[in-house]
Amino acid sequence: MIYSWHNEHWNRLVEQADRLPHALLLAGPQGGGKMDFARALAARLLCETAGGTAEACGKCPSCTWFSAGNHPDFRLIEPGSDELDGADDDTEPTTQKKKSEQIRINQIRALDDFLGIGTHRQGARIILIQPAEAMNQATANALLKMLEEPSSSTLFILITNNKRRLLPTILSRCQTLNFPKPSVSQALAWLRESRTPHAEDLLAHAGGMPLAAIGEAVNWERLDGFYRDLAQLELAGPVTIAGRWESWLKENKDGEASIDRRTLVIWMQKWVFDLVIMKLCGLAVFHAHKLQEVRAAAGRASITALIDCYNELLRIKAVSQHPLNPRLFLEDMLSRYARAALSGR
Ligand SMILES: [Zn+2]
Repeated sequence: MIYSWHNEHWNRLVEQADRLPHALLLAGPQGGGKMDFARALAARLLCETAGGTAEACGKCPSCTWFSAGNHPDFRLIEPGSDELDGADDDTEPTTQKKKSEQIRINQIRALDDFLGIGTHRQGARIILIQPAEAMNQATANALLKMLEEPSSSTLFILITNNKRRLLPTILSRCQTLNFPKPSVSQALAWLRESRTPHAEDLLAHAGGMPLAAIGEAVNWERLDGFYRDLAQLELAGPVTIAGRWESWLKENKDGEASIDRRTLVIWMQKWVFDLVIMKLCGLAVFHAHKLQEVRAAAGRASITALIDCYNELLRIKAVSQHPLNPRLFLEDMLSRYARAALSGR
């Protein structure tokens, strides 16, 4: 699927389909639809009938394989997609308990066989790697060898949310396409077209990234409850509120909600960030829809305590996926916030 804010990239790439570089790097903040763009581009380049700037036909044999996830000339490399091969990987420790967040070197080495033979459909051969920053140095170097000796009609598409975390040698082998944040009007038009309720509020809370906003739409009621709870934190106390939030996490196990500890820490970070911004310049970035509440909360807190709290939240986020007692984790986070929130009185 191609979003309106990607049209320019799309038209240019598809028009030059027969003289694309060997490696493209799609770089930009998360939540703008880079992965959808990359998949649409791969499908289009493999499609056997589409012409002009049209998207893949969706009907030819190639498109049928692609959408079934088994096109013989396409590989998707992402973290955790090759758990078994990781077991005898001598360069990285294997943590079988936890799903890997890294792309393993064996996943890249396995491409040797794929690149060594001709293409099945006499067309393009495409390798999509996402996110590219999930490769450690050894893995990135294994990829680099392949980028240095490109085989014909092969296109590597790398996706990154953070270009600065990639090796300069990788960057230098790729043609970078920047995927900046879409304009507010483009993003809102799309959200409204997708019939997303509370589009403006969700977009602000998602930092202007429309796919992230739509992803959070299912959590709207929780988010609303989150603000209500913060407003009555002094009255109810961190323990009561931690208990309520813990019940939100439990529902997640049944697949009823997409909320996890990390999401709650991020919500808290955005809230505290806006309290700081409110104190500094009278604005709110993520809560433009809640200016009154932000102003009131900022008025009760001191700026130094808020900045300390923000730094603590960074540390808390880093351990949010560790197997900690969820109740204690939330109590700890809320107590720290409560201290900061009432520090200016
Ligand atoms: Zn097709």
